[in-house]
Amino acid sequence: MKQYDIAVIGAGMIGSAAARYLAEMGQNVIAIGPAEPDNWRAHRGVWASHYDQGRITRIVDEDPIWAQLAARSIDAYADLQERSGVHFHEAVGGLQLVRTDETGAEKQRRRMDNARRFHAPVTEMDGDALRRDFPFLHFPADFVGMWETGQAGYVNPRSLVLAQLTALQQAGGELLRETAVHVHEDGDALTVTTDSGRTVLARRVLVAAGSFANCHNLLLGRQLALTIKKRTVTLAEVNERERARLSAMPTVIMPTQGIDNLPSIYVLPPVQYPDGKWYIKLGGTNMPEQLGREIDEFYDWFHADGSADEADALRRALLELVPGLDARNFVRNACVVAYTEQGYPYVDALVPGKLFVAVGGCGSSAKSSNEIGRVAALLAAQDTWTYDIAAENFQAVYAKVKTG
Ligand SMILES: Cc1cc2nc3c(=O)[nH]c(=O)nc-3n(C[C@H](O)[C@H](O)[C@H](O)COP(=O)(O)OP(=O)(O)OC[C@H]3O[C@@H](n4cnc5c(N)ncnc54)[C@H](O)[C@@H]3O)c2cc1C
Repeated sequence: MKQYDIAVIGAGMIGSAAARYLAEMGQNVIAIGPAEPDNWRAHRGVWASHYDQGRITRIVDEDPIWAQLAARSIDAYADLQERSGVHFHEAVGGLQLVRTDETGAEKQRRRMDNARRFHAPVTEMDGDALRRDFPFLHFPADFVGMWETGQAGYVNPRSLVLAQLTALQQAGGELLRETAVHVHEDGDALTVTTDSGRTVLARRVLVAAGSFANCHNLLLGRQLALTIKKRTVTLAEVNERERARLSAMPTVIMPTQGIDNLPSIYVLPPVQYPDGKWYIKLGGTNMPEQLGREIDEFYDWFHADGSADEADALRRALLELVPGLDARNFVRNACVVAYTEQGYPYVDALVPGKLFVAVGGCGSSAKSSNEIGRVAALLAAQDTWTYDIAAENFQAVYAKVKTG
């Protein structure tokens, strides 16, 4: 049987990037991961956190590590688009707003510090500037913001993954469209068994299975400490005339006011979806609910298209932000995000020289997936941490085993 240098489990945002970098480093790579299901309602397998048309991309963040990962990732977009021939990035600019209270001022200060540190082109905007430059949006009187230009905007996550997988194959890597159900030690190597019963032999395995990393036997008996949070998105369908009216709309991240259980939202400008229609997409951070480790819980959540209450709160927030919005139709979708203990992805060797992980996007990794994948590729190829951000930030934490 052919033995690969490395098998990457999960051909999603981080896994596809890692596999691509590994192939470009000269490793004999196979990426294992299913394509997006055609019919979500009938699907009873793993999903992904990226089955959508828009993810906000920006350097500016309150946290310097996230800002650094994003800056490096964004720097790589143009080259990847060119080499793969797949366009995925729209630099429409990004607004991040805060209230003018003490907490808001502190957030704004940290964001400005990181903007300077990582060379993000930003302008601070007071209420008057916001109303002048974005007359089609409504901002409460006590809001101020930061306007990031440069490469800030959004990526199409499906296209970004396609670009990575195209570049992977251009570099000689292989892609197996199956789901891994088991990894076990096989002498000096590891064997990955897939849902069709196929086996893949590799010297090393990198697990990048996102929110599903704990769902199958991929980690040689280990379980990662991951909190899987439910997310609902709302899509507002807009017609040609509304699209034209909102043609200068940037991405927006802001607190909300007076909407129960919805402290903040993020909003994208109209983006075309696979049904040919254009939708404004928004989501928020209101659902504290988590999913367990049983895959049936994921099925229930995805099959129900998320939460009707959350979708309604999001619809109300959007109508406040875009006064007079002429939306024909509102659609809701389910998603999940995986949070780690430190708040950064786990990029670590679970068994040095053999088993690696790049898991836990913390709801923020689409924009930075290229760089997170590169960090994982460097670690898995070299079996030692050479990256210039300290390894302890990315160290895997295991789930506590329940006793008694
Ligand atoms: C609604 C929503 C909005 C978001 N908005 C933003 C945003 O604006 N900006 C931003 O930067 N981030 C955003 N994120 C976060 C971002 O999408 C995630 O952080 C990112 O997708 C994580 O990448 P990943 O590779 O870890 O996971 P995924 O993209 O989910 O990829 C994991 C892959 O592993 C595969 N897989 C799972 N199990 C197996 C298995 N057993 N065998 C083989 N393959 C397997 C899956 O099919 C999937 O393709 C958002 C997330 C959600 C849900």
